[in-house]
Amino acid sequence: MTRTRVAYEELARRLRERALLLSTKAALEWDEETYLPPSGVEHRSQQIAQLAGMAHEMLVSPRIGELLGEATSEPWEDSRSTEAVNLREWSRLYRRNQRLERALVEEEARVVSVAQHAWAEARRARSFALFRPHLERVLDVKRRQAQALSEGGDPYDALLEEFEPGMRSTRLGALFTALRPELLSLLDRIRGASRQPDPRTLQRRIPAEPQRRLCEHLARALGYDFTAGRLDTSAHPFSTHLGPGDTRITTRFYEEDLCEGLFGTLHETGHALYDQGLPVEHFGTPRGDAASTAIHEAQSRLWENFVGRSLGFWRHAWPLLQHEWAGHFEDISLPDFHFSINRVRASLNRVRADEVTYNLHIFIRFELERALLSGALDAKDLPEAWNAAYREQLGLTPPDDAEGCLQDGHWSAGMFGYFPTYALGNILAAQFFAAATRELGDFEEAFARGEFSRLLSWLREHVHAHGQTFWADELIQEATGGPLSHTWLVEFLTRKYSALYGF
Ligand code: ZN
Repeated sequence: MTRTRVAYEELARRLRERALLLSTKAALEWDEETYLPPSGVEHRSQQIAQLAGMAHEMLVSPRIGELLGEATSEPWEDSRSTEAVNLREWSRLYRRNQRLERALVEEEARVVSVAQHAWAEARRARSFALFRPHLERVLDVKRRQAQALSEGGDPYDALLEEFEPGMRSTRLGALFTALRPELLSLLDRIRGASRQPDPRTLQRRIPAEPQRRLCEHLARALGYDFTAGRLDTSAHPFSTHLGPGDTRITTRFYEEDLCEGLFGTLHETGHALYDQGLPVEHFGTPRGDAASTAIHEAQSRLWENFVGRSLGFWRHAWPLLQHEWAGHFEDISLPDFHFSINRVRASLNRVRADEVTYNLHIFIRFELERALLSGALDAKDLPEAWNAAYREQLGLTPPDDAEGCLQDGHWSAGMFGYFPTYALGNILAAQFFAAATRELGDFEEAFARGEFSRLLSWLREHVHAHGQTFWADELIQEATGGPLSHTWLVEFLTRKYSALYGF
């Protein structure tokens, strides 16, 4: 074996051990969100902090630096080979973590842990004043981190890099600036349409148990493998990949809001289908990992919206719904139901927003978080800036901070740079769906027959199987034959909503 090969093998062994440790941590986190008794929270946070510290040590140890140096001392022939991909990503991860002092990593963990509790408390009290000192502390830590990571470059980009390798805020800004007027003009046409869904269609109480049964049916129909996963409930829905053969999803059920559980499940199913499609033999290395946060979100959005809110899907699911929710929807026709689950209107809430207005919520957060990080916006002025943006862009003013700038927990968790990946995910979902449609033909009739496997196979082949071989830009080019573009989303939404609303 050559020297570079020997170094590579030792690296792979060490970093696979670290991946095992991190997946153990993920299992404990899943348990914390689902079944952990309240009195166990304190001990659990110690377990998780211990594992996080160990994983950090395993990564930044001098030996890893030496091995990376040796393994990359001669170029690997094929830049797409497993070895080249893993070394590229390990080097990136190592360099990034090397730039952060352990003290700063630990300080962030402490600050956001307290800030997240303070945020939840402030949200309950509907008062930003309670959260403000914590947001200031989080911002202080994130600015120092961004400084350390950026090495003179743009600090926001340095944070964005954690979620979306290679992406830059100037590009995102241009993309969003191009998309915004298209969405606003579509929203205008929808508002002015004479045909509107009847808001009472979905106003009925469905107990949690029949909701869960239907959601399980639908997740299974889409291809989610329950022998390698499970569906539970948690306060905030999520999906977690614990390792080969174990990808779990959660949702939440509100008796008076059936969309929450239903589309929450379809969304997390989309995330899980990606993880269940990653190459098992590469588990614990970048080659077996998801490409990026936005590519992940593109999978969830594709299944939630492009499939789960389509008429074809509901032609298949309608009899299942009538069976599981017997007596609740007998007075409603399928077209009326389909129209209602696609109701578009400006609202104050991101999570419950429809496909047309969702990205407008993201654009607002993207601008505000950049201004907060750079210091152009002072934390104390956030509520005012937030409300002004909502007034200007959506024509609505939040009645209080809970429905305004306190609605999302990302900033309290230190996740600056995460929000834009939601909008990017929507844009990419449209692009992937259009490419799959071009190749395989319209899916409507297949969906109506309950056939989702052809679409899933397409995603498996063009996206999932690649792991982290490509960053988002290259993956899109490979999978769809064209560069990242918002036009597919505009085209899809225009076609769909002009048909629904009749304009
Ligand atoms: Zn998601």
